[in-house]
Amino acid sequence: MDKYRLRDNFDAIIQRVEAARIKRSEHHIVQIVAVTKYVGTEEIQALYELGQRAFGESRVQDLKAKSEALADLPIEWHFIGRLQKNKINHLIDLEPWLMQSLDSYELALALDKRLDAKGKKMDCLLQINSAKEETKAGVMPEAAYDEYLKIIENTKYINLCGVMTIGAHTEDRAIIKKSFETTYKIFESLKPHGAEICSMGMSNDFELAIECGSNMVRIGSLFF
Ligand SMILES: *Cc1c(COP(=O)(O)O)cnc(C)c1O
Repeated sequence: MDKYRLRDNFDAIIQRVEAARIKRSEHHIVQIVAVTKYVGTEEIQALYELGQRAFGESRVQDLKAKSEALADLPIEWHFIGRLQKNKINHLIDLEPWLMQSLDSYELALALDKRLDAKGKKMDCLLQINSAKEETKAGVMPEAAYDEYLKIIENTKYINLCGVMTIGAHTEDRAIIKKSFETTYKIFESLKPHGAEICSMGMSNDFELAIECGSNMVRIGSLFF
C-alpha cells in the first residue's frame, strides 16, 4: 500500500480522534489501537514508522506470525478476538500487552489455570455484549458488574483493567449510542474496583464512542 496514503489516513484519524476527545474534555485521553487483521507486516511496519505503537489482532495464529516477524520492534500487541480454549496456551506464550476479549467467567477460570501453570500474568478487559446480539461474544450488560467482581475474586493471574465492547450492529446511531452508554455506565461502576480502560469504537463509530466516554478505540479499515 502507498506510504503517503497510509500517512494521510493516519493523520485524518488522529485529527478526528483529537476533535472528538476535546469535545468531551481536554483532559480526556484516548488511545488508538490500530487493528491490523486485514494487512500484513509491511503495513504494520509502515504504521510503526509513522509513530503508531499499539496494534490489535483477532486471531491467535495471526498475532503469533506477525508479532514474531516484528519481534525487533517494541510494539504493544492487543488481542481482540474470540479465544478458543485450545489456543489459550499459545496466547499466553505470546505475552500480549492487553487481552481485550475475555468474554466469560468460564474462560477467565480456564485462562487463570493456564497462567498459573506457566507462571505468568495477563492484563485483560471483560468484553460486554452491550446490545445483546446473538452473534456477539461477551457477558450480558446486567450481569457484567457481578461477573467482573467474580473474576477479580476467583482468579489470581488475571489483572482486569476495564471493559471492551463492540457497538450495536445497525445503521441506527441512537441504538449504537445506547450500547456505548450502557457499557460506559458499567465501566463507571467498576472504577472503584480498578477499571481504567473503556475500549469501544471502531472505524464507523469511534467518534460516537468517544463522546460516550471511550478512552481506547480500535480502528482497522479506516487506516487501510
Ligand atoms: C475488526 C475489529 C475492529 C476494527 O474494525 P474496523 O471496522 O475495521 O475499524 C475492532 N474491534 C474488533 C473486536 C474487531 O474484530
